[in-house]
Formats: sequence, structure tokens, C-alpha cells
Amino acid sequence: MTLYADLHRHLGGALHPRIIYKFLQKNDHPVLNYFPDYDGFLSWFTRPCQTLEEFVKIHSLVEELQSLEHLPYFCLRLCRGAYTFENLQYMEIRYNPYFRTDKELTEQKRIGQMNDIVECVTANVRPVEYPITVKQILCLDRRLPDHLNEAILKVARENQGPVVGIDLAGPEIEPEKWEVWVRLLAQARTWGLKTTAHLGETGPENIHPQFFNVLDRIGHGIHIPLVRPELLKDLAKRQITLEVCPTSYRQTGVLKDFDQLKVVFQRCKQAGVAIAVCTDNPGRNPAPCTLPGEYERLIDHDVIDFSDLKAVQTESFRSAFGYAGTPRG
Ligand SMILES: [Zn+2]
Repeated sequence: MTLYADLHRHLGGALHPRIIYKFLQKNDHPVLNYFPDYDGFLSWFTRPCQTLEEFVKIHSLVEELQSLEHLPYFCLRLCRGAYTFENLQYMEIRYNPYFRTDKELTEQKRIGQMNDIVECVTANVRPVEYPITVKQILCLDRRLPDHLNEAILKVARENQGPVVGIDLAGPEIEPEKWEVWVRLLAQARTWGLKTTAHLGETGPENIHPQFFNVLDRIGHGIHIPLVRPELLKDLAKRQITLEVCPTSYRQTGVLKDFDQLKVVFQRCKQAGVAIAVCTDNPGRNPAPCTLPGEYERLIDHDVIDFSDLKAVQTESFRSAFGYAGTPRG
């Protein structure tokens, strides 16, 4: 049995829609007024969106469900599914702890509760029956004010070990604010945290080469090979890996079909830029979306050759932030 590693998976988008639906039923959630049956919920939850903003709105609903009280429920199911149905040996799960704090509390108390959220995830991603290694990446968000992003960074520092890195997430707004993000990511690095950022996913506007000084990986970054291929040499020199999530680009309306990824893979290969294939939000994709399924789709669409597969899979272990060992399988 081959075992895999997934480096880019959001806690809010990782769960199978049926698990979310059952949770809503169990808690008699008001959103069920709109979706009296599962099929209606499923097609709403997994429908392709026109833009990333639209996609992120549904994501916010799940984030609110994943409160301190309910996180253990979601974490167990996340590990169970990834180990049993996807053969994952290692996974980096990313989330924004602030979005999971209690909205009724004051901002100060919510900041304080972030540490409880991280500790709760840490305690619940090591189920005895499913021996998967799960490490955490905390997400900063482009929509949050600086002091909240700084507070998230601090929580990451205080939880180093279970938390291995920092990500910059949220819709790709305000590209002119790049200096703020570069400063925070540089700070994370001085504390020994690894760094990644959602960049060049929906367009090239956010691609500032200054980011390359402070990043270990780039979330998506597909518009670098597509639109700014002259920058690939710099990525290769700095050994920055791109986290490419094939099905995601159709769901968020970024690419029309998989064929467009051929250019991404070809140009990266030529320039010596590593790609880790990841799932992003597998629960939001038309089922079944799994990491092995993503590999298969890439081969089906001639984006990669079958003979490339082993190297692609190994790359995820090599580019991992918190993996120390050799892949089993
Ligand atoms: Zn993502």
C-alpha cells in the first residue's frame, strides 16, 4: 500500500459534505430550513463558483461550526477519512484560529481563546486507531486587521511543534499591502516557523518577488508559470515549492479545465521548480475528491505521465514542513 502526504488542506473544506450535513441535523441547525434533504445541500455545497470570493463565503459557514465545543467531532472524522480512504501517512491541515473563536466574546477574549482552539486541534488529531501524522499551519487572513494577524502569529509561535508553519489566506484582495505580509512572514521565519502563502491563485496581481525572500512554499502560485514564467528561475534558486491543487481551480472558477495545468507542470519542470500536488478543499469538490484521485486526474488529462507519479508523490514528503522520516509504502 502506498501512503501519501497532503500539504495543503483547509480544515474548513476538508470534511465530506455528509459529515457536515449529519452534524447540522444533530444540532438542529437553522441552515437546514434551506436544505431539507441531503441532495440539495450537497449540490449547493459542492457547486462550482464563479469567483474565489463566492467560494470563500460557503467556507465561512463551516468555520463557524468548528467551534471549541465541536472541533473534536470534526478532527476525528478528518483523520479517519484521510487515513482510511486516501491512505494519507502525513497531512498538514491549515486553518484560521480566530474564525473558530466564539463570536459572542469580546475581541480580547477571542484572541485569548485562539490558544484553546489550537490546543484542542492538537489533542484531537492523534486518534489511536488511525496512525496518521497531522501537523498544523495557522492562516493569517487578508481581510483581518494587522493586530489580529499578529495575534495569530503569536499563537503559532507558542504552539510550535504541533504548529509547523504560517500561511496567508483569504481572497486575494489589496495587492498593494504586500509589505505588511512580507513583514509578518519574515517574523514567522525568525521564530523558526515555516511559511507559505496563497499567491498567484486567481491572477498575477499579488505576485511580488519580495515574497520569495520569506516563503518556503507558495499556495497555488499557478499564475507564476502561466503569466510570469521569468520568475521561475528565482523560485528554483530558493527551492520554493508550489502547492498545486488541480480540482480546486475549477471549483473556484480560476481555470476552465485541467489541460491548462499542462503549461504549469511543463514550465516548472523545465525551470527546476518543485510541485507538491495537494487537495485544498476536498470536501467542497464533487465527490469523490481524494489525493489519489487528484493524481489520477492529472494522468488522465496528460498533465503528468504515469512515470512521473512516484517523483510527484515523493515531493510532498520532501517539501513538508514537519515531516521527519521516510515515506512508508
Ligand atoms: Zn487553499
